[in-house]
Amino acid sequence: MPDHDYDLFVIGGGSGGVRAARISAAHGAKVAMAEEYRVGGTCVIRGCVPKKLLIYGAHFAEDLKDAKRFGWQVPDCDFDWKTLRDNVLADVDRLEGLYQNTLDSHGVETFHQRAVVTGPNEIELADGTRKTARIILIATGARPAVPSCPGHEHGITSNEAFHLDNVPKRIVIAGGGYIANEFAGIFNEFGAKVTLVNRGGDILRHYDASVRDRLLQISVKKGIDFRFNAIFEKVEKREDGTLLVHAKGQDPIETDCLMFATGRRPNSEGLGLEALGVAIDEMGAIKVDEDSRSTVPSIFAVGDVTNRIQLTPVAIREGHAFADTQFGNNPRRIDYHCVPSAVFSHPPIAAVGLTEAEAKNRYGTVKVYSSDFRPMKNVLANRDERALYKMVCDASTDKVLGLHMIGPDAPEILQAAAVAVKAGLTKQQFDDVVALHPTMAEELVLLK
Ligand code: NDP
Repeated sequence: MPDHDYDLFVIGGGSGGVRAARISAAHGAKVAMAEEYRVGGTCVIRGCVPKKLLIYGAHFAEDLKDAKRFGWQVPDCDFDWKTLRDNVLADVDRLEGLYQNTLDSHGVETFHQRAVVTGPNEIELADGTRKTARIILIATGARPAVPSCPGHEHGITSNEAFHLDNVPKRIVIAGGGYIANEFAGIFNEFGAKVTLVNRGGDILRHYDASVRDRLLQISVKKGIDFRFNAIFEKVEKREDGTLLVHAKGQDPIETDCLMFATGRRPNSEGLGLEALGVAIDEMGAIKVDEDSRSTVPSIFAVGDVTNRIQLTPVAIREGHAFADTQFGNNPRRIDYHCVPSAVFSHPPIAAVGLTEAEAKNRYGTVKVYSSDFRPMKNVLANRDERALYKMVCDASTDKVLGLHMIGPDAPEILQAAAVAVKAGLTKQQFDDVVALHPTMAEELVLLK
């Protein structure tokens, strides 16, 4: 008789948990998973995937305008939010089905209910059933963090943004990070009056100053209003349903919708972890070692609940490495160096490696090369919107330390260039490659 019901019990059916479960099962482990909401997690159900589809939908607002300069007789077009919303939600349903199929076809037993950990090798499901497993993996992700000012309950988060009945006429977005800037672009393109309210003086402060300044400049030109150094004090709901948002040092802002995009907090509470001695940090993240093992040897964690880098592809890699290490006889660890990232704003930002400021701090002297150009399509479209590519190099070795881009398709272009940056190539090695003309990407081998 085996000692436990399962080799692995995964709590949380998002990107990291599903990958870990599938690969472990493929390695021959007996695996179960508990998911209290929908299989697919934040990325598939209410994050990257539906967000990217809204970005595509929003961009048509500009494409339809630009099309006229390319000879297309485009009548004044109406946008129907409900059509886009329902099509996006239907695609989410389709993907959820695919995720469930993957689990089923790998023999992963799925429990559609909440689970808590009741012992180093024991799980209790919401219906009271107890299960045991040699290893427990926590992959419960994160949830939107909302500042606790009076009236905050009148606001929504990105979770609800995908289900709105209508595009609000006016929206206030709290925060200056990924979600705030992406949704500011989306709602602005759909015709809402967007005001972004940020507690600090900078948006996207982990990105290079030049690209975020460019985004700010373009966003303002597109009609997005920014309020900086504004701490939320209270939110009032008036009889007519509108909201009055009060922030320190600012005139109150009247709006139809308030969306909080003020970071995400790991879902580590209420799982019984502290009682078992699983160490959790001050942000609520489960502390893990390089093998994703918590302070209790039989309990592991991957993805946003560990707050290492809150990105889907990172969670997927962590889940895969965990499965290979524990069940595939192939111990391996994740390299967090040079993880590329993107902000799907209008236009998008993409980056890999060190910003100019970080490189200066670490290396002293750096060389910076850049190209500040108006993409050909924007020129003909009469769209006064410039792209910016910036390369930061170690002055002594010529090695590329960071690449920062804002412009159409920047994330698509940067994914390929990130291979070269991670491989440690030099500026000269970029320049040795003949330009592919006419493209925007060719600027990467022509930087001055
Ligand atoms: P971010 O960490 O990107 O930004 C949070 C913003 O909210 C910052 O401007 C921050 O200010 C501000 N903030 C934090 N706490 C408060 C508070 N109490 N009151 C007021 N403002 C506050 O978080 P997001 O919510 O935008 O996204 C969450 C995570 O999800 C991201 O970190 C990212 O990893 C991931 N994500 C990735 C995407 C992508 O890859 N394209 C898209 C969407 C999300 P300050 O700068 O001062 O700290």
